[in-house]
Amino acid sequence: MTDLRHDLKTARHKTRRLAIRRHTQRRHFHFYSRCSSWTFLQNVAASPISWRGEHWILCGVALLLTALVGIVLPTFAKATRHDPAPTPYTTMALDLPQLPPGSEADPTIGAYGVDGSAQPDWHVVTVRAGQSLSDIFHEEGLSSNDLQHALDSQDDASALRHIRPGQEFAFELDKGGALTAMRFERGDATRVILHFNADGVTQTAEARAVERRTHVAHGMVTRSLFYAGERAGLTDTMVLKLANAFGYDIDFAQDLREGDSFSVLYDDVYREGEHLRDGDIIAATFINQGKRYTAIRYTNADGEILFYNEAGRPLRKSFLRTPVEFTRISSAFSTGRMHPILGYMRAHQGVDYAAPTGTPIRAAGNGKITFRGWRNGYGNFVTIQHNATISTAYGHMSRFANEKLGEKVKQGETIGYVGMTGLATGPHLHYEFRVNGVHRDPLTVTLPAAEPLPATQLAQFKQKTAPMLAKLKIVDGIQLARASD
Ligand SMILES: [Zn+2]
Repeated sequence: MTDLRHDLKTARHKTRRLAIRRHTQRRHFHFYSRCSSWTFLQNVAASPISWRGEHWILCGVALLLTALVGIVLPTFAKATRHDPAPTPYTTMALDLPQLPPGSEADPTIGAYGVDGSAQPDWHVVTVRAGQSLSDIFHEEGLSSNDLQHALDSQDDASALRHIRPGQEFAFELDKGGALTAMRFERGDATRVILHFNADGVTQTAEARAVERRTHVAHGMVTRSLFYAGERAGLTDTMVLKLANAFGYDIDFAQDLREGDSFSVLYDDVYREGEHLRDGDIIAATFINQGKRYTAIRYTNADGEILFYNEAGRPLRKSFLRTPVEFTRISSAFSTGRMHPILGYMRAHQGVDYAAPTGTPIRAAGNGKITFRGWRNGYGNFVTIQHNATISTAYGHMSRFANEKLGEKVKQGETIGYVGMTGLATGPHLHYEFRVNGVHRDPLTVTLPAAEPLPATQLAQFKQKTAPMLAKLKIVDGIQLARASD
């Protein structure tokens, strides 16, 4: 019993310390966010001065200085007057008020007050890497029956089955160590409390305030994109999102140059004032080798979220240049080459991408599967008709994905897996690109641009994205002005 009380008490101290730390961080956030001129807070009213923690501290320091000056100066003046009569000091005993029972200073009282009334007293556990909820229950000495009841109480128990490191679960135990309540987060915006009692489990759910806060960042590439991002205050996740947004136009491995620059309007997700996670890129510009690219996030009429340029054209091309993650090009397109197995000169009408067996092969563009089966030297073979003129073909697959003949596929959808069926000396994808039935070099053929938003959506697109572009232009403008100082 004593041990349990001691444990509970330690846990209570820890929880309180964490709460204080979080509270302080929250306070600091408000302070910094008001000071930072590069943050557009959507939902936080920027009051010029309100009496928050930092102001009280500043004010306190000022008062202290005033008091010191008030005490030190007269003392100094008195000392210089050589006053012979020292002021007599009297010490008085002060009665300290009795500490209330159950307070921090009383080590004999545990988590419950002397009257036995239960205070809300959560023991908070943070999920470590590789832990399941069952591990946590075991570690905390909680019964697997309770875990089962908790799981059964949920219509969708995914919040309990798929837990992530850093997530918090809180437990409340009664005096006998039995679980009385359990608290966890379901999604970003719901806190669930399960109450365990003799009749089973009841639950209460409270909505938590979740908001997205918008920020801007500007960076200039010196060493690397990640270094530039870090200096601009972007997380690595956000830098990756930036690279992905422009990945169709800029090859970040080959084309990036010193002096390239970017401006980003992005958001972060905050819950009850605390940073929860990175959000998304809302709009961005990237100047690569003097050429300016713009990406604006927009949900089109089909509900697809894509990046568009200012004219409403998707940055995503209508075709992937390479439909597989390859290790090397094992054979290029040619009009005549020595066939490695047949041993005579024959045109190679596609590109061979060497990749490990089982690597997913993706549809290069939206289209319809027009062949799916065995074709001589090509082994397991798939063809896709994309429009009236363009079709693509994929050979030597180890196996097909689930798509059937005649079925529609979307760009990027897996249609099969790399293998070496048919005539092949090693696992690779044989890929063909045909325009009006004529084989073209997939590496150099001009890929048609994606269709822009139809006129009916374009007006709304322009209206919705104008404020974002205006914000980006302000950042760009200020950076230009700074550069010319
Ligand atoms: Zn080939």
